[in-house]
Amino acid sequence: MELLADSALADREGVPRLRQPSPVGKHPLASVGIAAVRLPGGGCVNLMRVMQTNACSLSCGYCPTFRGGNVPRVSISPDETARTFMDVHRKGLASGLFLTSGVPGRASRATDRMLATLDLLRRREGFTGYVHIKLLPGAEPAQVEEAARLANRISVNLEAPGDGYVHRLTHDKNFSGDLLPKLEYAGRLLAARRGVPGTLPVSGATTQFVVGAAGEHDREILAVVDRLERRRLLHHAHFSAFQPVVGTPLENHPATPAARELRLYQAEHLLRQYGFALDELTFGRDGDLDLDRDPKSAWARAHPSFFPLEVTRASYEALVRVPGLGPTTARALVAARRTTVLRGREDLRAAGVAIARAAYYLTLRGRRLSDTAPAEQLRLFAPGGHLTQAPYRTPVPPCAYR
Ligand code: SF4
Repeated sequence: MELLADSALADREGVPRLRQPSPVGKHPLASVGIAAVRLPGGGCVNLMRVMQTNACSLSCGYCPTFRGGNVPRVSISPDETARTFMDVHRKGLASGLFLTSGVPGRASRATDRMLATLDLLRRREGFTGYVHIKLLPGAEPAQVEEAARLANRISVNLEAPGDGYVHRLTHDKNFSGDLLPKLEYAGRLLAARRGVPGTLPVSGATTQFVVGAAGEHDREILAVVDRLERRRLLHHAHFSAFQPVVGTPLENHPATPAARELRLYQAEHLLRQYGFALDELTFGRDGDLDLDRDPKSAWARAHPSFFPLEVTRASYEALVRVPGLGPTTARALVAARRTTVLRGREDLRAAGVAIARAAYYLTLRGRRLSDTAPAEQLRLFAPGGHLTQAPYRTPVPPCAYR
């Protein structure tokens, strides 16, 4: 259990990982991996994250538990998984479960074992809380249907934005013949269940891309994500900058800059929450986002005639395009100006505006709040370099728990 669960390492989105101190003393559950995860619509849930087995007969080039990987193989039964989770849950340590698995032999068998765990939780244990199941490559349509009945969230990892790219990562996964249709099917089933009385709350379908190991470009990744999100088959996507792991087929492939992962997350938010269209994002000739500039600032720089916006009149849709202003702040500004008089920077700051970034793009009662364009945005990474990382050791896939 320690090997399969405590390996849920730091969440790259910066959500704090809770390594619980031991209210259970020397109890073996003291070391179970638990992480705080944001829920759609707000709030956090403490998830116990478990790989039901790390045995695997597939050969993903980035994964330490691929079939040739030199890691101890362990497996826990559906009954053990369900009991362990309920023990953790009753002690108040976790209110939800994230369940994934390797694929030892037939995918349908491994999927059946995961579904058996969920069935035990729902029927024997009467657990009605949050469950996220990561469906395996090769899982069958009937298993997708069962997962959609038992889980709140389903993920199917696409890994890369097309057949050719997925093929470079592994010959064992099939983008257009398996992964993509399965994700779409899961998305459709969950959407159909939304709001139906007597069913579990639905959190939608998610996916993940291993970024940078297959030569794919950001535009291609975001095009796939955008198509799925516009059809409401995908709630959101995760991006995992590729990191070489010792002993894997891609051990000698260079690491992907962490900045690329961040820029993809930022761009996906613009598409999903800010009303941007894919064609509005600024890509380089190679089809990748600028690592040194966030995509919203890049758009603002490329559209000087759109600015400045008058805070007292601009629409929500326009305000949300201002660097330093997000949907919450734009809504707060629109609401505030109906009832109060916005007098200056302090009022805007109080509404949540990041003045240092936004002032250049705004006027208040005709006066521009700053004549100086903001300095290049917060440099979170060393210019150019971003990340150089030697292969590292880990007993689980670096991106197992998204
Ligand atoms: S990523 Fe999953 S399917 Fe691929 S080798 Fe690792 S455990 Fe197996």
